[in-house]
Amino acid sequence: MSVLPFAGAVGLSALGRASETFPDTQKMPVLFLGHGSPMNAIEENEFVSGFRTVAQTIPKPHAILCVSAHWETRGTYVTAMQMPQTIHDFGGFPKALFDVQYPAPGSPELAKMTQALITSTEVGLDDKWGLDHGAWSVIKHLYPDADIPVIQMSIDVNASPEAHYNIARQLSKLRRKGVLIIGSGNMVHNLRAVDWQNLNKVDYGYDWALEADEQMRKFILEEDHKSLIAFRSQGKAFDMAIPTPEHYLPLIYTLALQEKGDEVSIFNNKAVAGSLTMTSVKIA
Ligand code: ZN
Repeated sequence: MSVLPFAGAVGLSALGRASETFPDTQKMPVLFLGHGSPMNAIEENEFVSGFRTVAQTIPKPHAILCVSAHWETRGTYVTAMQMPQTIHDFGGFPKALFDVQYPAPGSPELAKMTQALITSTEVGLDDKWGLDHGAWSVIKHLYPDADIPVIQMSIDVNASPEAHYNIARQLSKLRRKGVLIIGSGNMVHNLRAVDWQNLNKVDYGYDWALEADEQMRKFILEEDHKSLIAFRSQGKAFDMAIPTPEHYLPLIYTLALQEKGDEVSIFNNKAVAGSLTMTSVKIA
């Protein structure tokens, strides 16, 4: 066996190298943020005020990993570019919204560390995506200076809810590396049923939307993750609230990172436009 001149350095795994970039910290909280309409990015309302308030209760992170409802792929990917672009992935909104840029840097190191941590499936490094509005429309309220590196992790459309929960659990080490993990979606999200005439009407939810949101909050506070993972077996209100799973699954990622002794709090829990709820969760 030959001895390489820099054997020590050569032998370091991606995980080892990244661990040096991200020193150990106290345990970071985990968030699920209900993002609602893209207009929340530029409007002033109680929900964005809620985002700002929660940011003030959290130690400033070294980096952010966001699982957004708006990045669905076959397989799991993380963004690994140095400078992610701001993606305006919507139509029919005012120019002011398309003008928003959120120039936070990426973190190829965090992308590689995430890739190394997840062993239940292969995680690909992506250099094409960036930050979609599920990420930037909320993160810009938490950290308006865009001075914290952000990466996104995609939602594998072929994975089961259990598989998503399992993927997220493997990220738990990041909580002690100063990484703030954010799931961004909406617990109740039925665009077909939205009352477009009352898009900005707050405290306005259909019976099934209020029922589903209340039951979800109950499961969350009871730490009944099993029932939340089995969201397809929870009856008609859940079926109406979750016609497609992409806005709900980021909640599963957030809950999977809950550890014994963590405190769970709920904020922004109001319905808007009949069929959406902004309900958000902090685990700390
Ligand atoms: Zn959305």
